[in-house]
Amino acid sequence: AHLERIQAVDGSVRAFLYVDADGARETARAQDRWTPKERQEHPLSGVPVALKDNIVTRTMPTTAGSKILGRFISPYDATVVDKLHAAGAIVIGKTNLDEFAMGSSTEHSAFGSTFNPWDLTRVPGGSSGGSAAAVAARMVPVALGSDTGGSIRQPASYTGVVGFKPTYGRVSRYGLIAFASSLDQIGPMTRSVGDARRVFEAIQGYDRQDSTSLQSGAWAPEGTSGPWRIGIPKEYFGEGLDPVVRQLVEAHLEGLAQQGHQLVEISLPHSVYAIAAYYLIAPAEASSNLSRYDGVRYGMRASGHDLLSMYETTRDEGFGDEVKRRVLLGTHALSAGYYDQYYLTAQKVRTRIREDFERAFSIVDYIVTPTTPDRAFRLGEKSDDLIRMYLGDIYTVTANLAGIPGISIPLGLGEGLPVGVQWLAPTLADEALLGAVRAVE
Ligand code: GLN
Repeated sequence: AHLERIQAVDGSVRAFLYVDADGARETARAQDRWTPKERQEHPLSGVPVALKDNIVTRTMPTTAGSKILGRFISPYDATVVDKLHAAGAIVIGKTNLDEFAMGSSTEHSAFGSTFNPWDLTRVPGGSSGGSAAAVAARMVPVALGSDTGGSIRQPASYTGVVGFKPTYGRVSRYGLIAFASSLDQIGPMTRSVGDARRVFEAIQGYDRQDSTSLQSGAWAPEGTSGPWRIGIPKEYFGEGLDPVVRQLVEAHLEGLAQQGHQLVEISLPHSVYAIAAYYLIAPAEASSNLSRYDGVRYGMRASGHDLLSMYETTRDEGFGDEVKRRVLLGTHALSAGYYDQYYLTAQKVRTRIREDFERAFSIVDYIVTPTTPDRAFRLGEKSDDLIRMYLGDIYTVTANLAGIPGISIPLGLGEGLPVGVQWLAPTLADEALLGAVRAVE
């Protein structure tokens, strides 16, 4: 049924870069012969799952949305892929993304844009726009995305699905093509919080292949049903917030108060510096991570009359404009003489942002904010104004800088377009967060 759905609608949505229809059918047929016991042992048996195409797979190509990987096929599966297989899930294909996950609209993919299923003239958000659109258009019930500064939560918000970014280190990054290693985290995009929880349970856990994987992150019980103290950070409701989004988020907060939860106004004073810090740290790490694409080790190789010109031509032809911009920014921020001024200062701001959250979570259980200041914008609308595009990440990047878990859940439509709300929780309170949000969904 899902393959038929893909066939019917993906010509206009363009969420997928690759669909392994034969492989999916074969796995499904094999599972048809399973005993009830075998089925029970595989909590995701029969569930089709799409992967953002920066998660490597042995049986399908991986592009990261870039030309530079050429026809790259990974010699190994990412840990999350192994875990999905072990849980019985059927990996059905790979979804479109901004090149190397750098972007907020999926317009920076080398393979063309994905379109928002709610309005095909609008973006699905990004960078996990393909995964979001695939779930929103009911082509798959579950997709994985990656979130470095909001790339799961923002497209979830723009397309009316659930998007969960776990605590940094809860899900292995082994086999996730690195963008900014200290911020990247894989997570589920689903139709319901219950589904997000099931998928998170299957993919989380310590992995010795990822040195930043958390040993302490054992599966924890869901926690209480409240009433909770819910923090409302005043910095997240200021200027620049779309009135339609504000209205729906405020209605959500009123509903929470009516359910007996206590709303507490809080301050996260360093949030105003978050975009500046993020857009130094993420490009800095990216410039280092992307140095491996040299025309020798992976995929595409341009011709050159010597080694250096081969490197240069490969990177010039293989990378898109946004990636080049980030590499330039990052290299500059890390260079001698500027390191203290930019990178080190940004790291200090990062610490302050983490401390803001620690202080807030000593008085509240959860923090609730809009996921994004606006709703899905039109294709091309922000292409000439990158600062505006970057500013759209204002409510999501702080969770990555602090390493804490965050989830966006749909609040319904505001003037015809989906609106999401973001819930944030303390480090390692992933299960409690999912339980809480499920109770209010
Ligand atoms: N939009 C942000 C950026 O362009 C976040 C991307 C992400 O989370 N992968 O960097």
